[in-house]
Amino acid sequence: MSSENSSADGVQRVWDVVVVGAGPAGASAAYAAAVAGRRVLLLEKAELPRYKTCGGGIIGPSRDSLPPGFELPLRDRVHAVTFSNNGRFTRTRRSRQMLFGLINRPEFDQQLVEHAQKAGADLRTGVTVARVEQHGSAVPDRRTVAVVLQGGETLLARAVVGADGSASRIGAHVGVKLDQVDLGLEAEIPVPRTVAEDWKGRVLIDWGPLPGSYGWVFPKGDTLTVGVISARGEGAATKRYLEDFVGRLGLAGFEPSVSSGHLTRCRAADSPLSRGRVLVCGDAAGLLEPWTREGISFALRSGRLAGEWAVRIAEANDAVDTRRQALNYAFAIKAGLGVEMAVGKRMLTLFERRPGLFHAALTGFRPAWKAFTDITRGVTSLGELVRSHPMAQRALTALDRRPVGGEAGDAGEAGEVSSRP
Ligand SMILES: Cc1cc2nc3c(=O)[nH]c(=O)nc-3n(C[C@H](O)[C@H](O)[C@H](O)COP(=O)(O)OP(=O)(O)OC[C@H]3O[C@@H](n4cnc5c(N)ncnc54)[C@H](O)[C@@H]3O)c2cc1C
Repeated sequence: MSSENSSADGVQRVWDVVVVGAGPAGASAAYAAAVAGRRVLLLEKAELPRYKTCGGGIIGPSRDSLPPGFELPLRDRVHAVTFSNNGRFTRTRRSRQMLFGLINRPEFDQQLVEHAQKAGADLRTGVTVARVEQHGSAVPDRRTVAVVLQGGETLLARAVVGADGSASRIGAHVGVKLDQVDLGLEAEIPVPRTVAEDWKGRVLIDWGPLPGSYGWVFPKGDTLTVGVISARGEGAATKRYLEDFVGRLGLAGFEPSVSSGHLTRCRAADSPLSRGRVLVCGDAAGLLEPWTREGISFALRSGRLAGEWAVRIAEANDAVDTRRQALNYAFAIKAGLGVEMAVGKRMLTLFERRPGLFHAALTGFRPAWKAFTDITRGVTSLGELVRSHPMAQRALTALDRRPVGGEAGDAGEAGEVSSRP
């Protein structure tokens, strides 16, 4: 037992809330529990700041879920989007208003952790949680969870939040069920100033050759984050897509400073979000927008809710109250993010079948572009849009039913703003 883990009389300390993983989900959970005045410990296996494979796109809902006083470390502000359909029918759309922001994850995540610490959370880095136990000899009573670290050290908590990302051990303990797993591949490419200038303020989104795949270029000053994402199981084809994508953008000659891959996971609608005194959030819970694979806002929002409900679970004295609070957490997630995910899933199914139609709509049909800008700016959400616009609802339902085929050429008709590589 480490000294920081025991009180002066040698009795092992029991934390109110232990949070596993210091990404956006874990830092938000730790912040929420700490501002409520609880004793919170945030555990992270890496040393911070740590790299995370991610585009770093911060849309409105992410911005709106940040703790008070948090200043986004923006590397660029996006005012234009170039769309292409597997390298063809390239069109650029512009907006006077900023659509979304771009950050580097190491500094963004580090800053979120600092906010949690300022709110009172303790942090331990370089510690890997091996497992949690809710029964057995490591657990002194039924109100306690044992958090076992690699190396054998055991910490005690009244409630645990699992925010340990897409390879989550806590998710396995809870029994998280998935119905979509994707592989994202990314390269951080430092570029000369002239190239960086050309990309400033503009992202590129390319609808890919594999069903449901797409690629992006996100500029961050002197470095471009270039990535692709596709269903897992097509590793070689996904890698080829990234190579072709980088090649046709004329970026193959620049050496990436980082090349990496990471899985994203979406929960099944009936997947559990808790087990006993343990809650899961963010990627660990499979909370992610299925179509765009946007996950930062899902991590921030679910993390905050998990932190708030972990506080209540920490106070619960019996299994009935614990269960009630855990169900409340699940209800809050399903009523908000769950609805967003259900709409995103339908969008992905349509997109898999008719990417050309999406391309034509976004580049040539003003209401579709307006919907895109409203969603990225956080004026509305995909779920809200479908709920509040009977036309969008009808269009989605009609497209759900339409047979597949013959749409790729549609994109060529999308006479739009400018045609830029
Ligand atoms: C290629 C790619 C591009 C993406 N681009 C975007 C984007 O542009 N915008 C967007 O919104 N989303 C994007 N996402 C999704 C986004 O990156 C994730 O949804 C988000 O990082 C989830 O945050 P999290 O806190 O749940 O998990 P993570 O950020 O993965 O954090 C989990 C943390 O837990 C730690 N950890 C893991 N296991 C343990 C353990 N056993 N013990 C202790 N610590 C542990 C890890 O080291 C890590 O720090 C992208 C994903 C991919 C793969």
